[in-house]
Formats: sequence, structure tokens, C-alpha cells
Amino acid sequence: MLQLSNERSFDTAGGMETGNAGDMAALNLARLIAAAADTIAAHAEELTALDQAIGDGDHGLNMKRGFEAVRAEAEAFSAKPLHDALKAIGTKLVMTVGGASGPLFGTLFLALGKEISAAPDRANLTAAFGKAIEAVAARGKSQVGQKTMLDVLQPVHDALLQGKTAPEIAGIADAAAEATVPMKALRGRASFLGDRSIGHMDAGARSTALLVRTIVETLEGQP
Ligand code: ADP
Ligand code: MG
Repeated sequence: MLQLSNERSFDTAGGMETGNAGDMAALNLARLIAAAADTIAAHAEELTALDQAIGDGDHGLNMKRGFEAVRAEAEAFSAKPLHDALKAIGTKLVMTVGGASGPLFGTLFLALGKEISAAPDRANLTAAFGKAIEAVAARGKSQVGQKTMLDVLQPVHDALLQGKTAPEIAGIADAAAEATVPMKALRGRASFLGDRSIGHMDAGARSTALLVRTIVETLEGQP
């Protein structure tokens, strides 16, 4: 599976123990999916509370529904080549998350699947992630600074470009979500509140930071 360390190239094989590269890659993607679904489930109430403050309070439930649907098919998805697996995850998220965030998270994974190579190194992952963020921005007609998930995605991309380590990237994602607190929402439901959206963290920024931390920690922890 992918390793974030600069020294190591990303390795979708790495099946030393089993001698079967395909099985090892499948195992690791399944582990990533399980970790992401666990994190979202553990934080569903927190995400709901954030969305209650400046939205309609469904973000926790939306994300939990979507990631549980992905978890339910983790085995089948993990058996696919990486780019097909990412596209399948994106399609499932579009179909199940709902709200504004469903199509946006779905687009992120669909675009990642389109851009990523079969055995991505850090440079390819970073480039693919950059294209995926562009796809989200196009889909949401949004940009950085509008108090959305993009305010976490972009700093994470910058951190990848700058060669930051996994713990640094996780910290940058958390700080970026925190940095949405003083922002005024200019996109999504929270924008209807105008200045009253100031002083609350954006729910989608928080869920994005949670997923980033989970993904980089899981990747780093993999053999
Ligand atoms: P809804 O707003 O339809 O209830 P969710 O509550 O699931 O959907 O998701 C809300 C999150 O989606 C916001 O916190 C924000 O991060 C993100 N979001 C909403 N609209 C946009 C947009 N146009 N561009 C980028 N992100 C957006
Ligand atoms: Mg909502």
C-alpha cells in the first residue's frame, strides 16, 4: 500500500509475508476503509453538533451512512486495482452520503481514482490529490477561504508538496480545520447565516481533517 515516507516509494505490493502482492494490497486498502469508517463512526455526534451550529445537523449521519456503505463492500473494493477501488468508493459515497458533501467527497475519490497510477509514488499521489481538489472546487463552485472542506484539502496538498511527514500532515489538517472557526462561510448551507457563521468550525473541514489523520496514520503504520 501507499507509504507517505519520502524515502520509501509508494508500494501497492509489499507482500513480503504472503508473497502475494495482490492480497497484501487488498488487505491494506480494506484496513484503510475500516479505519476511516471507524473514525467517522466515533466522531459522528461531534460532526452532527458542528453542523447543527451553522447548518442542518446532518453531517455526522450523512458521513456515517456513507462510510458504513463503503465498509460493507470493503472486500470487493479492495480486490480491485487501486484506481478502480477509489472510483468505486467515490461512486458509493455519491450514492449514500447525501447532502452537499456526498457529491463533493465522492468527486474527490472519483478524481483520485482517475489520476492515480497503478503503483503510485508520493509525487503521483500528490499530483493526483491536487487534481482531485480541483475537481471538488469545480463541482462545488468553491475555492479556498470560503469555510469548507477545501480549507483543509488545500493545506494538506501543500504539505504533501513540501515533503512534510505523516504526523506533520495530520497536525496541519487539524490546524486547518481549526482555522475555519473565524471564517465567514461563503459556500454551502452555513453561508445562509452570513456573519453568524463566524465562530464555529466547518463540519466538512472537520470530517476532512479526521479522514486525513486516519489515512496518514494508517498508511504510516503499515508494514
Ligand atoms: P448539507 O450542507 O447539504 O447539509 P453536509 O452537512 O453533509 O451537507 O455537508 C456540509 C459540508 O459540505 C460543509 O461543512 C462544507 O465543508 C461542505 N460544502 C458544502 N458546500 C460546499 C461547496 N460548495 N464547496 C465545498 N464544500 C462544500
Ligand atoms: Mg448538513
